[in-house]
Amino acid sequence: MTMRSTTHPFDDDHLHEECGVFGVFGYGEAAALTALGLHALQHRGQEAAGIVTYDGEHFREHRAPGHVGEIFSSEAVMQRLPGHSAIGHNRYSTTGETAQRNIQPLFADFEFGGLALSHNGNLTNANLLHHQLVKRGCLFQSTTDTEVIIHLIAISEQATVVDRLIDALRQVVGAYSLAAMTSDTLIGVRDPMGVRPLVLGQLDDAYFLASETCALDIIGAKFVRDVEPGEVVVITKDGLTSLKPFAPKPSRFCVFEYIYFSRPDSVVEGTSVYEARKRIGMELARESHVSADIIVPVPDSGVPSAMGYANETKLPYEMGIIRNHYVGRTFIEPSDHIRHLGVKLKHNASKSVIDGKRVILVDDSIVRGTTSVKIVEMVRLAGAKEVHMRISSPPTTHSCFYGVDTPERKDLLAAQQTIEEMAKTIGVDSLAFVSMDGLYRAMGYEKRNPGMPQYCDACFSGEYPVPLIDQEDGQTTSQLSFLANFR
Ligand code: AMP
Repeated sequence: MTMRSTTHPFDDDHLHEECGVFGVFGYGEAAALTALGLHALQHRGQEAAGIVTYDGEHFREHRAPGHVGEIFSSEAVMQRLPGHSAIGHNRYSTTGETAQRNIQPLFADFEFGGLALSHNGNLTNANLLHHQLVKRGCLFQSTTDTEVIIHLIAISEQATVVDRLIDALRQVVGAYSLAAMTSDTLIGVRDPMGVRPLVLGQLDDAYFLASETCALDIIGAKFVRDVEPGEVVVITKDGLTSLKPFAPKPSRFCVFEYIYFSRPDSVVEGTSVYEARKRIGMELARESHVSADIIVPVPDSGVPSAMGYANETKLPYEMGIIRNHYVGRTFIEPSDHIRHLGVKLKHNASKSVIDGKRVILVDDSIVRGTTSVKIVEMVRLAGAKEVHMRISSPPTTHSCFYGVDTPERKDLLAAQQTIEEMAKTIGVDSLAFVSMDGLYRAMGYEKRNPGMPQYCDACFSGEYPVPLIDQEDGQTTSQLSFLANFR
């Protein structure tokens, strides 16, 4: 995640990232396996990717903007990445440009040797720490918050690399899943609340780390278990050691990973993402069904929840909207103008399915509302008699500061309008979102525990479980506006 550089972070709508991480220890062609893993995690980061390997003597690295398939398809590139250990990273951003120096894994030479680091998440006190570190004379090479961890490792007085990393992480606040690699160790870490996912896999005797299980499936590795919140797993030639160095905190896994972000074929924290989405669709139907003829998903993200909705209502499930897979996610385009163009490029309504029908459209979320406006217009043009929209998340009213890209609050439709107003804006006959308790029921709970919700649902509730230090510290962030010059 890139450090936000404006005087108030809510003003900054650029360079927010989501990411995927992958790591291998002790398997031949580690770079090729990492490239495959990153390919499976492409949905978590589409802007740039990188791999660092260790070949027994040297660290090797390759990072570039673009998709994994393009970056690691050349034999020449792969030949430059020999070794039995590797870590990789996918990066996702709202801007088209990435400074080369921001592409992860980051790498640094310390007195104890080299260390590569991949990070998924977002540190919420990175600006504050950056300020303190610069005052101490640290020279930053990038604008990623991940680099703060590198400097904290460098100045730590602990003896071993693992203790230095733990020492560094005791000073950071935020959401992080990390894969780190030295010449003889692979380390996986999840923040004490376990906001972002990280799983452990095994193939023969070798261990793997990945953001999601789909990255283990692609290489035929078996899923061992999730890295636990607050856990540090240390993998060496002698095997795996599990450490729990942080004060225990209640777990707050990101519920949006189930709703949208993770791949449906992944199993996250013991729950299949696909099954969770279907159950949310069923809850949605129980809560807000209206009389209609067909259920139509907004592909791809609305597909599993629309199937759940159709199962529950026994109405026909129809592919009334077809998605063109050869365009990127519209959400990440930088301007409204391009976003509008993108949506038209991406979806088309099928007249033969929709004409004369009362349609229930199911999608996973409404963020800016741009997609929904276009989709509804398309469905009406295709001859729908009525258009009802059902959303398999509660209204997105707050920005995420833990590593999922959401725009600033003023651009979140649900933060600005009531549901009735949103229905008018989008142009539907009715609009409903799954309730917060409905969402939690679908996840296997009786209801959301109001004092201590079982997940991080800050984007729907505004209750941020991990303190937003930089946001609260206006003075420090304004002192840091010089960071803008780094871009
Ligand atoms: P919007 O046009 O801004 O309302 O976009 C809503 C659509 O974007 C949803 O239907 C999701 O499929 C997708 N979406 C939601 N959150 C994200 C995100 N953080 N990154 C990328 N796409 C998203």
